Amino acid sequence: MPLRIGLPEVPCVRCHERVAGLAWGERCPTCHAERKRRASQLARRISLVAALMAAGLLGWRFPVEHGPLAFAEIEADWLEIRPVWHWINDAPAVGSLRLQAGLKLAPHVVLLGGAGANVAVATGGRDADLARGPQSVQHSGDTTVRIYPGLMLGLQI
Ligand SMILES: [Zn+2]
Repeated sequence: MPLRIGLPEVPCVRCHERVAGLAWGERCPTCHAERKRRASQLARRISLVAALMAAGLLGWRFPVEHGPLAFAEIEADWLEIRPVWHWINDAPAVGSLRLQAGLKLAPHVVLLGGAGANVAVATGGRDADLARGPQSVQHSGDTTVRIYPGLMLGLQI
């Protein structure tokens, strides 16, 4: 019987697969890569929250004054998302086009509601994944485009 000399096979602390040369209490390369991927996803989401936002807004309001309906409006905006700690020229951006209506609740209180479409464009390998729901995602080179519906609800005083 040949004597086998080598590194002992140690079970991964997470998936229990035996891997030669693994230290006790460590994760195997597969589990380590999965953990690193999840950590970078979390870091990306946190950096989006901590981002400086530059925005432009353009809208047209049409007075209606028909029953409780005070006005209808169309609104377009453009929002660029930049890290707080340094300026980047190719910041991801989200453009929105919305149709909104205002319902008069009281003399100076209007309930605003609307629906529209959002387009998020990110270049340089970045991604502005801000949608919570169905979306269309297209990748081309290092550019990612996401298109998703949006709902708006607010109170104007
Ligand atoms: Zn493992």
